[in-house]
Order: sequence, then C-alpha cells, then structure tokens
Amino acid sequence: MPSKPDAKKQIQKLRDLIHHHEYQYYVLDQPEISDAEFDGLMRQLKELEREHPEWVTPDSPTQRVGGEPAKQLPPFRHRVPMLSLDNAYTYEELKEFDKRVRAVSGNEREEYIVEHKLDGLSFALHYEDGILMHGVTRGDGVTGEEVTPNIKTIRSIPLRLKAFAERFPRLEVRGEVFMAKGVFEKVNDEREGNGELRFANPRNAAAGTLRMLDPKIVASRKLEGNAYALLVKGAVPFATHAETLKTLQHLGFKVNSHFAMCHSIDEVIRHCSEWEDKRDKLDYEIDGLVIKTNSIPLQNELGATAKFPRWAVAYKFPARQATTQVRDILVQVGRTGALTPVADLEPVALTGITISRATLHNEDEIARLGLRIGDTVVVERGGEVIPKVVKVIESKRPKEARKFIPPKKCPVCGGEVYRPEGEVVRRCINAACPAKLKESLLHFASRRAMDIDGLGDVLVEQLVEKKLLRDVADLYGLKMDDVAALDRMGEKSAQNLIGEIDSSRKQELWRLIFALGIRFVGERTAQILAHHFGSLDRLIQASQDELEKVFEVGPKVAAAIVYFFAQPQNLKVIEKLRGHGLNFKPAAKKAGSAQLQGQQFVLTGTLKNYTRDEAKELIESAGGVVTSSVSKKTSYVVAGTDPGSKLDKARTLGVPVISEKELVKMVKG
Ligand code: AMP
Ligand code: ZN
Repeated sequence: MPSKPDAKKQIQKLRDLIHHHEYQYYVLDQPEISDAEFDGLMRQLKELEREHPEWVTPDSPTQRVGGEPAKQLPPFRHRVPMLSLDNAYTYEELKEFDKRVRAVSGNEREEYIVEHKLDGLSFALHYEDGILMHGVTRGDGVTGEEVTPNIKTIRSIPLRLKAFAERFPRLEVRGEVFMAKGVFEKVNDEREGNGELRFANPRNAAAGTLRMLDPKIVASRKLEGNAYALLVKGAVPFATHAETLKTLQHLGFKVNSHFAMCHSIDEVIRHCSEWEDKRDKLDYEIDGLVIKTNSIPLQNELGATAKFPRWAVAYKFPARQATTQVRDILVQVGRTGALTPVADLEPVALTGITISRATLHNEDEIARLGLRIGDTVVVERGGEVIPKVVKVIESKRPKEARKFIPPKKCPVCGGEVYRPEGEVVRRCINAACPAKLKESLLHFASRRAMDIDGLGDVLVEQLVEKKLLRDVADLYGLKMDDVAALDRMGEKSAQNLIGEIDSSRKQELWRLIFALGIRFVGERTAQILAHHFGSLDRLIQASQDELEKVFEVGPKVAAAIVYFFAQPQNLKVIEKLRGHGLNFKPAAKKAGSAQLQGQQFVLTGTLKNYTRDEAKELIESAGGVVTSSVSKKTSYVVAGTDPGSKLDKARTLGVPVISEKELVKMVKG
C-alpha cells in the first residue's frame, strides 16, 4: 500500500486522468484510450478511495454514481428565475421579432445565434470554486427540484470546471438534458420487456429519468446534457453570445455543435427552413430552433417580460402529425381511371392548415393499416402536400367501426372497374368517364403543363357537366358566350380565360407531351422525348425498341407511350389539337440557348439562390440534363452547402465538382 502522501498524490493523479478521458469521450467524442483501460483507471481510484474515505470529494469521478436512492427531491429556489421562451410559429412572426429587436438596437440588420431547440428539459448547475454543487430542474421557473446525484451521472457534465475556476468563483450554467433517439428506443424496449409502459417520446423519457429517486437507474439511461447559458454575479463579462458558447466549451461543457451565426433575419429564416428538412437525420429530437441576439449589451437592454426574455424567440417547427377520426372512406377517380381510396377526416389542424382528407393509396394499404371506417388514426404531412394516414389507434376503435368494401363500379360513371393482374389499383375502364376527363383537363391546364391560368376545379366541373368539353382539344374551340354564361363567370373573366387558352397554343412541345397525361411520362421525360424525337409525329411513330434506346426511358415507360398512341381516341384528340395549331415541333431555339447541350448534371446540397427545381430549370433551359445519381456519364456535380454522399461519389469517379456560381457562369456567361 502506498504511504499516505503518495496515496493522496496518486488519487489526485487518477482523478485528473479520468476527468480528462471522460471529457475526451463524452464531450469531444474523441476517446484516447480503450474502455477497458478507462475501467482500469476507475477501479484503481475506487480502491484507493475505499482505503481513504476521508479523501473522497464530491467532484471525484467515482461520485457520478453513488449514494442511496433519495426519499424525495428537495425543492431548490433559483437564484435567477428560469424563464420560458416566446414562440414563433411562422416566418412572419420571426420578422416581427426582428423588428422589435431592431427598434431597440437601431441596427438595419441584427446578428443572431441560432441553436437547436433540444427537446428535453432544462437544468441549472451551480459551481462553487469550480466544483459542481447543485444540479436543479426548472420546475415552475421560480423553484425547481434538486437532482444533483442524477445530474452527476451525466458524463458530459463536468464535476469540476476545466478552466477559469478562479475567474468565476461562483457561476451558474444552464442547458438541456435530453435522451438520444437510439437510447430512447432501447429504454423503451427494456420497459416493454419488463411489462412497463413505453415512454411516449424522448422528452418524457428524459424528464422521467432525471426526476428518478435512484441515481443508479439514471446512470443506466445515458442522458446527455448540452449547455447554452452562463450566469455570473453582475454582468457576464462578454460582449457576445458566441463568446459565451466558446467559454462554456473551455469550461468543459458540451455545447451543441449545430449553432449558427446569422447576419440578418432572412438568413435566420433560411436556416430554419433548412433544418425543417434535415431534422430527421439527427440522432436526437429538436422541436424547433432558438434564435438569440448575439450582442449581450443588447440582450440586457431588451430585458425580459415576466415570462420570457425579449432577446430570444423559439421558432417551433410545424407539427407534422395529428390524431383524428376517419368519418368515411371515399373513392376518387384519377385521370388514368385509377380508383384511389381517400379518408374523409374529422377536420384537424396540421402544419398550419386544417385538413379533412388524407390519401390511402390503395386497398392493399388499407389492409396493411388494418383501417376501418370510424377508426381514430394518426395522419402525417411529410414533404408531400397531401397528408397520409400512417397509423390506426386500435384501442380507440368504436364498436360500430366497419370495413371498407372496394366498389365494383366506378363511383363517378357507374362503369366497369378492372384490377389488372399484379397491380394494386382498380381502374375505371370507361374511356368516356367524366372523372377521367375532368382530371385530364386539370392536368392539361396545370401550371407545369400548358399553364392555362384560371381553369380550375369548379370551372372544369361545369364545362364537363354542360358537355362543352368532351376532350382536352375542345378547350381550343370554346366560345366566349358559352364561358360567360357559366356560374360565377363574368364577361371579363371569360375573356381572360379564352385569352389564356389561346396563348397556350404556343407552349413548347415538351409541355404538350407532358400535358397529354401519358402514364409515367412526367415533365422531365417529356423534355427528353421532345428533345430526342424533335416532333410529336416522330414520337407517335416510335416503336418500343426505339423508345427504350432513349436515355432514361425504361421498358415500362416505353410500353406506356406505345399504348397511349395506339388508342384511336387519343389519336383523334391529337388530330384535333393539330387542327387548332398547337406546337408539334420544338420552338425554334433561342440564340445561345444550348451552352450545356449534351451535358449531364447532378445537384447535391443546398444552393444559395436557386431551389432544386429552379436549378434544374436553369440547366435544362441551356440544353443540359439533370440526373439524380452520379455515374461515369455525369459531366458535372454542382455542390451547394451540406452536400451529400454524391460529392464523395463524384470524387471517387473523378467527376468535376463545380459551385453554384460556376454553374450560373456556364449558363449566363
Ligand atoms: P418552451 O418549453 O416551449 O417554453 O421552450 C423553452 C424551453 O426550451 C427552455 O426552457 C429550454 O428548456 C428549452 N431549450 C431547448 N434548447 C434551447 C436552447 N438552445 N436555448 C434555450 N432554451 C432551449
Ligand atoms: Zn368511371
């Protein structure tokens, strides 16, 4: 056994080492030694402390999991109240916040730090002479609960500050405790195995865990703690929040790495919209972003209301899921005659709008969900516009819930319904089905097809009803008087509509091909076809083989095209369109519009001045093609911020990578 002074030195040395390695592992994510080596150090320290209990201090790493379960959590009055945050649900509200801030600062643009709004619960830590003395929950903001033994189990929270202990003899650090998604799943599986209820979400799991009486269980749950605020007596000795975050890191805290400096509210908004898309990729949950003025003197000047600071705001992401009841299952008929079951919902608010319909895709999907009419369901709105039913809550099923019976006849025309072998959809096979006609007309007129402004749902309904339109070509034969006589149609709007229809004759060939509504032929394929065949007549005559040879046209698409042009009624419509003088050949090329002719591009990451669609349009306007994956045929990869794996692939294949600026230069010169 080492002599007393040696033992004391040895204990000190071990503690320093263990603190260092905990920091490397839990805060920096950069372990320097193996777990076994780490456990060895810990064992040595425990042994020495057992021999010398008089030297055990509260900041010893052995004290992370120590002590007996508490009988209760003692109340702890906050030295400075822990306020809540004001919320913003729209970008408009963010702009209003910015206006209020700038009214005080007098700046034309304000600088903000934007942080992830970790979905956990906040904590306050009190350090005295560099040692963690109290860990407290927020409680009601005035009084919280002391959970020091539980806080100590969180390895990324320092028991002893790494620096500046002399500079800040007393300081308070605030932050958020949360549970990573992976840990949450594990904890829930375990609970289920023990016959306990699952936690509803990681936040509940973190809150439930931090308030447990037995720190040993807390330790097994692997909570995480990120710091975002520093309080010292008097004013904080920094000028900016950015400096505060840096100092917190120096002190040994984990600061969430995704904070960003934004130089205007517009930049903040762009940042918010980016994270709205990316947040699912994180291994922890965020329910929004917190926007804070960077200037601390400005924070002090703005002050706080009784509830929240005026210098910060929480931008809350729109809820993407909601729970509601299925009142009925309706069947819609699309332009290809496909019968799509649609849930008729008890109206519910979702992502800022009220929804009362959700798609169910097809019968198989209804079976997969186990959905019955009357069920309570979870609806979700992801990237797509139309919400979908994702889950049935069976425990809420009413007795009178009934099964959905797929219709044997078309609900619109009463015609025969047919489900082709191997397909999941039923189709109405009546060529004259008004539902099909209506949908075809709406598609034909849509913005991305012939772009006939003003030809909406209600109007099409009437035109079809009154038998003024029997196919899309009839649009070009519409008379002013016929249109003006329709409900809610004045002379003026009739004139506008006729004008719109008339000028759509000049739309480019690819738009016409897309507008025809051939199955599987989207905008992009239409462009490729127009470019490849050069005229509608050549496309009509193309064989399956010829079509399959076209870049990016597979056998399925080729077959759909051949089938479409083999239908006599379709050819009849096309002849009528020819008679009305539509563009069957590509418009003469504008001078210099083919700078990117024959070149293939792949986009990755977020561009600054263009959305994906706009960038695509830009490239295609110059004769280039945009593909979704990188191959040896790719001419250039255009990389924005946060590029994905496509960039690595480009590098591996030696495909040149260019910036947004370079792309614009190639097109516009
Ligand atoms: P709310 O609970 O919606 O009123 O939002 C306020 C809470 O957001 C605070 O009490 C914190 O627990 C939490 N929060 C999460 N991340 C942050 C952050 N980066 N900065 C400030 N508060 C945060
Ligand atoms: Zn029908």
